[in-house]
Amino acid sequence: MALIKLEHVSKSYDLGETRVDALKDITLEIEKQHFVSFVGPSGSGKTTLLNLIGCLDKPSAGMVYLNSIRVSDLATREAARFRGEHLGFIFQNFNLLPVLTVYENVEYPLIMVQDVASNERRERIMHYLEAVSMLDQKDKYPGQISGGQKQRVAVARALVTNPKLVLADEPTANLDHASAFKVISLMRQMQRDLKTTFVFSTHDPKIMKEAELVFTLEDGQITSKESISPPNSN
Ligand code: ADP
Ligand code: MG
Repeated sequence: MALIKLEHVSKSYDLGETRVDALKDITLEIEKQHFVSFVGPSGSGKTTLLNLIGCLDKPSAGMVYLNSIRVSDLATREAARFRGEHLGFIFQNFNLLPVLTVYENVEYPLIMVQDVASNERRERIMHYLEAVSMLDQKDKYPGQISGGQKQRVAVARALVTNPKLVLADEPTANLDHASAFKVISLMRQMQRDLKTTFVFSTHDPKIMKEAELVFTLEDGQITSKESISPPNSN
């Protein structure tokens, strides 16, 4: 059974006189535990597509299913609950809260979204900070660490709620190549270890090659689907 299923999904934005057809009749499936990338130039529809899969927005037509639940039908509040319980997000701009420490940023979803008891909270936070090699930086503030380190904290924050699916919209766009590669390798390792499905977007061809499955988007349509077997895959 596919974890993600889109059936004839379209999304248009009405701008008064004009209309932008951001996604045009997209049908696709993504299996559990995969490492998947959406690639395409700016404006091709990557963010729109990730927002629909992430229950942050609704299609103009068609259906989105996650784990056989028709999430495109969920009301705003149900969608919010679904996101908190099942999804993790990583953003291009890291979106860490500047007034919270690294530790507190990772703790945030466990308090605000999932209400996890304090003992277990601490255990999970320490575990994931260790996993992303940021334990020794846990008392620093986002302003005191590098972009690559911020994104590693964001990976920990996305995973700490044990989501089934992590969505990352251009997670490496604001990183130099070495840091970008490190963040993607970390995501890949987490996907293997935790069997979490990761779906990320990028316009960087080098980053895209790290995925197992690559969908190419052009002008709101999927123009190719390519399976990649990296030499180090097992
Ligand atoms: P990408 O992430 O690949 O750059 P987007 O999904 O952001 O692409 O955008 C796809 C198309 O939809 C673009 O033409 C963009 O201008 C348009 N678009 C995206 N969001 C909005 C919005 N909120 N209102 C109007 N047009 C939008
Ligand atoms: Mg985008």
